Amino acid sequence: MEDGIRKESRTSTGLDKADRKTDERFMREAIKQAKKAYALDETPIGCVIVHEGKIIGRGYNRRNTDKSPLAHAEITAIKKASKKIGDWRLEDCTLYVTLEPCQMCSGAIIQARIPRVVVGCMNPKAGCAGSVLNLLQVERFNHQAELTTGVLEEECSGMMKQFFKELRERKKREKKGGASAL
Ligand SMILES: [Zn+2]
Repeated sequence: MEDGIRKESRTSTGLDKADRKTDERFMREAIKQAKKAYALDETPIGCVIVHEGKIIGRGYNRRNTDKSPLAHAEITAIKKASKKIGDWRLEDCTLYVTLEPCQMCSGAIIQARIPRVVVGCMNPKAGCAGSVLNLLQVERFNHQAELTTGVLEEECSGMMKQFFKELRERKKREKKGGASAL
């Protein structure tokens, strides 16, 4: 234990017993959301929130489209799920997200009292579910979330890599195009 942050990220209590197959099924739904972001030239990140085996909120990254730093997949999914359930507390819900949540989204997850988070791939430079920080499991806060990582990891990270590869190629082409137009 360091600074009140729990070390283990793969916990095995209570809700985490949900089987891998179920996790993969819902992560696939989160990937579908991420592909909507991809189609808008947004970084492909998608999220679904599941309650009693049903999806009650979906979201995907729309940061550029909406010109908002708040338009992350998780925030949209939390808003929709809260509306659907009629409560700001999303107890008994599991949040599935293709990329490790940032500090804002990890904060929102704790605020919403979401008990379990399932992550596709990690985000070493900005993730706040164990990479840079682990805001989901700070013991001094009044709520912590169980965390399962690495569900369909390759698909989730492959999608990101492909996106950034295409982005780099596009930028290169644009640069070239710009130069020849002079
Ligand atoms: Zn975020």
